[in-house]
Order: sequence, then structure tokens, then C-alpha cells
Amino acid sequence: MPPVDFRQSQSDIDSGHPAIHCNECQSALQSDSQQAVSFLLLDQLTIPIVSCDDHLERFASVCGLTTEDTATLLDHRPAGGICCPGCRLARYNAAQPMVPVEEGAIVAMACPTHQTEIVQRFHTGLETQHHLSSDVSSL
Ligand SMILES: [Zn+2]
Ligand SMILES: [Zn+2]
Repeated sequence: MPPVDFRQSQSDIDSGHPAIHCNECQSALQSDSQQAVSFLLLDQLTIPIVSCDDHLERFASVCGLTTEDTATLLDHRPAGGICCPGCRLARYNAAQPMVPVEEGAIVAMACPTHQTEIVQRFHTGLETQHHLSSDVSSL
């Protein structure tokens, strides 16, 4: 077991936070520069997300399991902008809940509605992935 990192205590508002063991996620989540923001396009959703590249891709690919289309990641604001005014105004702060992705984490900088929606997609995707991988192992 890796030692628990107590440097995360700043974001301890929601005490359910697991420790992040990915250094790149940590530095992405701790920097408040807007540069670290990527945009996940999934169906009609456009969700600004902060994480490291690896875990961003993991998150996007798991979310992509819940759609017939593909989940697209942009490292810049999409040309059409963000339709939802709540998401457009969302800012990264310590109160935004983190979503654990393997040993890292992502923060969706969206309005509460879309934040819930994308997190649900992610959990649905994880279940799908779980079923897929257990199918493979039972062969
Ligand atoms: Zn990471
Ligand atoms: Zn929204």
C-alpha cells in the first residue's frame, strides 16, 4: 500500500475524497490556471474537465462506452462554445467534487446538473467495461 498523502487536506471539504496517487493529476488539480482545462464532448454535452492527459483519456474512453458516438476530447474551448450557461460560468475550486479514475482523479467544472450527468455516465461506463472484461475472462 502506498502511504496516504495528507497534502490534499486543502480539498478536504468533502471528506469522501480518496487520495490521488497520480502526481500529474495532483498538479493539474492544484493549479488554478485555466490552461489545464480540457473539454469532453459526449453526445450533446460539453463538459470542461481538469486532470492529467492520461486520466482524462481514461475518463473519456469510459464515458464513451455509454454512447453510440465517440467521446471527443478537446484541449481548447470548442468552436461552438458551451451551450449551458451554468457550465460556462463554472470555475474550478476546492468545492468541486473529484471523481476517482484509477489512481488519478478528474474534476468536472460543470453546473451541478451536468456534473451529475457526466459522473453517472462514467459509472455506467465502468459497469459496461466491467461486464466486457468479465466476459473476456470467462472465455
Ligand atoms: Zn493522472
Ligand atoms: Zn451545465
